[in-house]
Amino acid sequence: MTTFYESVSTNVERVARLLDIEDDVRILLAEPYRQVDVQVPIHADDGSVLSFRGYRVQHNGARGPFKGGLRYHPNTDLDEVQALASLMTWKCAMLDLPFGGAKGGMTLDPAALSPRELEAATRSFTNAISGVIGPNLDILAPDVNTDARVMGWVMDAYSSRAGWSPAVATGKPIDLGGIPGRVEATGRGVVAVAAATLTALGRSLVGQRVIIQGFGNVGRHVAQIAAEQGAVIVGVSDVSGGRHIREGVDVPALLAEVKPGTLLKEVEIGDFVTNAELLALDCDVLIPAALENAIDTTNAADVRAQLVVEAANHPVSLEADASLSEGGVIVVPDILANAGGVTGSYFEWTSNLTEFRWSEDQFNTQLLDFMDRAFQVMWERHLERGVDLRTAAYMVGIARVAEAVRLRGLA
Ligand code: NAD
Repeated sequence: MTTFYESVSTNVERVARLLDIEDDVRILLAEPYRQVDVQVPIHADDGSVLSFRGYRVQHNGARGPFKGGLRYHPNTDLDEVQALASLMTWKCAMLDLPFGGAKGGMTLDPAALSPRELEAATRSFTNAISGVIGPNLDILAPDVNTDARVMGWVMDAYSSRAGWSPAVATGKPIDLGGIPGRVEATGRGVVAVAAATLTALGRSLVGQRVIIQGFGNVGRHVAQIAAEQGAVIVGVSDVSGGRHIREGVDVPALLAEVKPGTLLKEVEIGDFVTNAELLALDCDVLIPAALENAIDTTNAADVRAQLVVEAANHPVSLEADASLSEGGVIVVPDILANAGGVTGSYFEWTSNLTEFRWSEDQFNTQLLDFMDRAFQVMWERHLERGVDLRTAAYMVGIARVAEAVRLRGLA
């Protein structure tokens, strides 16, 4: 079976060849620059010692300091972190942000740890990788099962060694140098890209029946913002299963009832569906916002949406991507669709380096501007070259990174 990293690398290799990138450069784009795999020991609440594995992969830094999220999940491994780091390289370049790509992860189940244990694990991991991160070296951010609180601990652990360094992590609490708008930014960007795609296709987001898989930071904000813009949310799910509401859910009421930490199987809204059933429901737009490979060869043929917008990273497997495309389903790739998060992180990093505060209005205006410009560049490439949207986005990102590699004399 193709691993997650092999899938991403297959796309990179395919598009690099399409762009006729010379072998010397292609070799440098194909491999991670640096990867660390560390032991993360903590004292558990009962006095025993627990030890986790932690990873930080820095994929390519030709265009700027490495940048990428930190994920806590029982299935996280080096292959997953390598794949996510590579995606960050192309995503930052697609948005023309001055960053390279990185990702971090720890193999742990945060639900099995107390808040004190989670904090200890975060501090232990940050200390273990502190030699290879920093405001001008590698900057962390939230991802699956990590949030502003975790970023505050990362920032504090790093700053206790290096001095006040808010710019070592983004997605922090506002009082620690976070920026208003960042929490919603990934979801806001997903909705902006969905709306831009529909407009380019001669349609509109208003009245579109939308299904969202994953109801965490990204999925919740996609639901809220898409509904505010006139979409009809007919299904949502989390790890416990989903709810199907044919006539469209009252999103503010749903968000009020399903607070973070509440599972959708526990609420009485619409009909319960499994995640497999959710993906096969009738809708116009499907937004996978949970984990990688949610749509694979076992369920791609069931997808009834005409448009899939990848809010999660790599939610469509390589093989499923081909099958959706054969079936005429348009897929908007992760490296553009969910790039609102890293774009918002770029604003936060900039604000930390300059110690100048942004208003939420400024943040949202700039965010939509960045997303719109990136969408237009991808769409033009798609039309010019007659390629699908994923290929077009990779062409933009890979060409920019390759040029930085050449200009720096790295190859
Ligand atoms: P999160 O931890 O806040 O939420 C994840 C959600 O997915 C939860 O609702 C969880 O119950 C659900 N889920 C987990 N396993 C599932 C399964 N097997 N089936 C269905 N649902 C499942 O994470 P998040 O920050 O919202 O990230 C979601 C995705 O978006 C990830 O792929 C992440 O890499 C990507 N992403 C996040 C950001 C960000 O700013 N947080 C930015 C870019 C991309």
